[in-house]
Amino acid sequence: MKELQERILKEGRILPGSILKVDSFLNHQIDMELMDHIGAYFQEKFRDAGITRVLTIEASGIPMACMTAYHFHVPVVFAKKARAANLGPDVYKSTVHSYTYGRDYQIAVSKAYLHAGDTVLIIDDFLANGQAVHGLMDLCEQAGAQVGGIGICIEKGFQPGGDELRRRGIRVESLAIIDAMDDHHIELRK
Ligand code: 5GP
Repeated sequence: MKELQERILKEGRILPGSILKVDSFLNHQIDMELMDHIGAYFQEKFRDAGITRVLTIEASGIPMACMTAYHFHVPVVFAKKARAANLGPDVYKSTVHSYTYGRDYQIAVSKAYLHAGDTVLIIDDFLANGQAVHGLMDLCEQAGAQVGGIGICIEKGFQPGGDELRRRGIRVESLAIIDAMDDHHIELRK
């Protein structure tokens, strides 16, 4: 998606450990017009997938997941992190290893908001090693819901998450794929 790719090249900042900061439009300050365009783009891409629900993980997946759900006219649900005790016992839980913080955390979704019979579109801001997506897929499996596809804003193509999912036959659509990154340069896949 050209609009997102241009913003990454213009405003992205690279931190040690191959972390891309896109705080000026995606992860801290949020450009809602861009989110709207991202939502419309995913809706177009997955329009034939029979999506009944959009699922993401708090916090940074929420804006683009909301706009995607808005364009599909379906609910959006976000998995809550860690201290999910206030969700009560009726939750699906999984463990995710955080790429950016280097530690494990729990995610949980109430059983009231994810059902057998759902076809779920998983949305997230980044895909690196695939841990967050695996956690969300695990929640879907526990609920008996199908994963209709995965929509990612920025895939780090030099990390294995996206290719592993595609090899398993899962449909992954990434709006921008970074092939390489060093201190001064971001190389996007054409
Ligand atoms: P994965 O679980 O695929 O290894 O990493 C994806 C998750 O880690 C995303 O939910 C995202 O929040 C975070 N993440 C991974 N790489 C980056 C990065 O380069 N920049 C930012 N801002 N977040 C990242």
